[in-house]
Amino acid sequence: MTPENTMRLQLSLRSRGVTDARVLTAMELVDRALFVTETFAARAYDDVPLPVAVGQTISQPSVVGLMTQALDVQPRDKVLEVGTGTGYQSAILSHLARRVYTVERHRALTRIAQRNHQAMGLSNITQITGDGSFGLPEQAPFDRILVTAAAEDPPGPLLAQLRIGGSMVVPVGVSDHIQMLIKVTRTPDGYDYDELSPVRFVPLVEGVEHD
Ligand code: SAH
Repeated sequence: MTPENTMRLQLSLRSRGVTDARVLTAMELVDRALFVTETFAARAYDDVPLPVAVGQTISQPSVVGLMTQALDVQPRDKVLEVGTGTGYQSAILSHLARRVYTVERHRALTRIAQRNHQAMGLSNITQITGDGSFGLPEQAPFDRILVTAAAEDPPGPLLAQLRIGGSMVVPVGVSDHIQMLIKVTRTPDGYDYDELSPVRFVPLVEGVEHD
């Protein structure tokens, strides 16, 4: 990542409201070009989503920044991400959290993410192929959960796997319509819901693809 590219990306993050110094530093440490194919390498530092394998996308950097900022990850946290893609968001989380688990329904993408994380020497991420709507009961509870595909409602198993005092950021809404990014916080007596901003994500899809 050249200093010009770093500067360009950091400027677009700031102009979109990503101001948390820890988030900006974590994003500076993760070269987005490593998560896209050769074809799109020249556009890796533009603030746009880009196509990756099996018809999926790598998220827009400013949206990754805003979601990470809203998640307010603490250094001792155990974090679950749903929707690994090629592993860009989870690489950023790995610099902020103690441990990251990330679940992806396309086996082909899990493999790519594993390779990317290994190449970067990131050793606190576990990549799993599965239907992330069910979470990861064997590793629960989680301090933070980040869902990077849109659900009609926050999935029940994910709510149940949140630690009391923990929070989840998830885009909610029917695909192709306006979705709203929401933050759910688990309290001793239930859940608090905050609306953050409108977003557009691919839908959360059921089942696993062994591609
Ligand atoms: N977080 C990624 C972007 C993910 S795009 C990044 O850092 O760039 C959304 C991803 O969610 C896609 O890869 C899609 O295959 C995956 N996905 C959709 N439904 C899922 C489900 N039920 N379980 C796990 N992954 C799912």
